Amino acid sequence: MEKHQPSPESSSDTGIPPDARPAARTPPVESSLEECTVLEAPPPDPNGCLLHTGKVVELYCSECSCAVCDDCISGDHEGHSTAPIGPALELQRTALKDRLESAKTRLPQISDTLSLVKEILQQLTNQRTSIEEDIQSSFEDLHKQLDVRKSVLMMELEVTYGLKQKVLQAQVDRLLRGEGDIQDSCTQTEETLAGEACAASLQAEQGLAERLEELTNQGLPCHPEDNDQLDLILETDGLRKSIHNLGAVVSTR
Ligand SMILES: [Zn+2]
Ligand SMILES: [Zn+2]
Repeated sequence: MEKHQPSPESSSDTGIPPDARPAARTPPVESSLEECTVLEAPPPDPNGCLLHTGKVVELYCSECSCAVCDDCISGDHEGHSTAPIGPALELQRTALKDRLESAKTRLPQISDTLSLVKEILQQLTNQRTSIEEDIQSSFEDLHKQLDVRKSVLMMELEVTYGLKQKVLQAQVDRLLRGEGDIQDSCTQTEETLAGEACAASLQAEQGLAERLEELTNQGLPCHPEDNDQLDLILETDGLRKSIHNLGAVVSTR
């Protein structure tokens, strides 16, 4: 800024450019500012009155339970009964120490209770984990038992069905065979009968007659040798009820 506002003396008196002038010629404004900000308030007097600066507290107002100075007594505390501050401070200290002691005596009991409750909490958590495992394994066992029982029933079904199926299938086979034999012999006989009777075929026709008689009387099973009776007896209601009410989580004390 100085460059744009050349003072009259800089150009006329000395001829020296403003920048080159010695610093001493400018007034030391900065240093005086610093002094103002650095100034610190003196530490408060520990026995000073909080309301009246410079006054020392020498008395204790027993009505207001506070320390007071002369100005206080003639002001807000006028007419209040007072005592010397020293003994009042001592009394206060003694009372504070008593409080401290009685507060400290609570600590061991609290600490004991704390560790007991923490232990109980840990045991409770352990119980939960163990019960969780018990439920898991019990139900896995039940699942296994159900699967085993299912397999057994499937096997029983196979066996019972198999026995009946074998009997009926064997009867079907025998009847088919018998039916085929009779049909064949009938066809053969009918072909023979279609021709002229002659001495040469006498023996053959006697054979056919014997064969037909034998087939007719062969005693094929003409009643079903087994039945279709196959049923499932599976009572699940009781079991369902049992499962519905299976187990209980209880609080034991
Ligand atoms: Zn005061
Ligand atoms: Zn008072």
